[in-house]
Amino acid sequence: MSQISDKQVPKRRVKTGRDRKLNQDEDVNKDGGPISNCEVISNSCGICNEIVKDDERAMKCEICEVWFHIVCEKMPSVVYDYIVAVDQHISWYCTSCQKGCVKLHKSIKELRKQTGILSNKQTVLEEKVNVLAEVVVENQEASKATEARLGTLEAKAVNVEDKIDNNNEKHMIMENKLGNLEAKFAAWEEKLSPGADSNINYADVIKNEAVPDLQSIMKEEIEQFKKNMEDKDKRQKEEYEQQVQELKDEEARKNNIIIYGVPESKEKDEAKRREDDRKFIMETIENKMEIEISQNSLTKLFRLGKIEPNEEKPRPLLV
Ligand SMILES: [Zn+2]
Ligand SMILES: [Zn+2]
Repeated sequence: MSQISDKQVPKRRVKTGRDRKLNQDEDVNKDGGPISNCEVISNSCGICNEIVKDDERAMKCEICEVWFHIVCEKMPSVVYDYIVAVDQHISWYCTSCQKGCVKLHKSIKELRKQTGILSNKQTVLEEKVNVLAEVVVENQEASKATEARLGTLEAKAVNVEDKIDNNNEKHMIMENKLGNLEAKFAAWEEKLSPGADSNINYADVIKNEAVPDLQSIMKEEIEQFKKNMEDKDKRQKEEYEQQVQELKDEEARKNNIIIYGVPESKEKDEAKRREDDRKFIMETIENKMEIEISQNSLTKLFRLGKIEPNEEKPRPLLV
């Protein structure tokens, strides 16, 4: 079977006296002058180089379009006669083109093999790309989590900074107080020193100045201390309550399941509908799943979404 379709087959493959006459205008100029160089070459035999004459038995190769004497191409006369008889239906290639064709076929075969290998490689690569895409998504999620953690850490750092500022402030206040105390002590010391005013009554100084001073300082300190302790207690209590609430929420979320397709009760009253749902779930768990549960186990039970008047599908049930 020829690789070349009928459409591509040139009109004249076999050069016979008859064909030669039919195609005369191809070889001769309109004014009847000599044929051009190009055409002379195209009309000489591809092997012996002699001009192929009208009455000579010759073939034109379909690929290189060069004429060949059948004797030069060593084509048996029987074959030539057969080709002439069937004419349009057989393709003929010269020996040199046939060799080229074999090479071409080999190349095509090799090319097909390579295409197959490449296609396999492409499949493998596509799979790898898919895996990578998944990894990228995972990494994105991981980096989101990391970002969230960083956010928390930053908030904590700001908190610590605030505390340090606060402590510095407290430190300053304490230093001021100490400075004041030192000044007072220095004043008393001076008044009570032996070289001072001899008329001074030591007992009066101690009773009227030092004691009230010390009392007021101590009172102030004790009140401040009490207030600090109260604030601390309050803060700790709040923190503790918040943590307990978070744990409770987390626990509650862990135990939630959403059930689809549970038939919805037609009761008008919301509480009755909920009771019907509760019965259904309890029965399902006890009878179908054969698990014993107490009424208190279902801490939550509600339908997700609003009631749509024309919706026949039951709403999901969160338990
Ligand atoms: Zn020849
Ligand atoms: Zn050829």
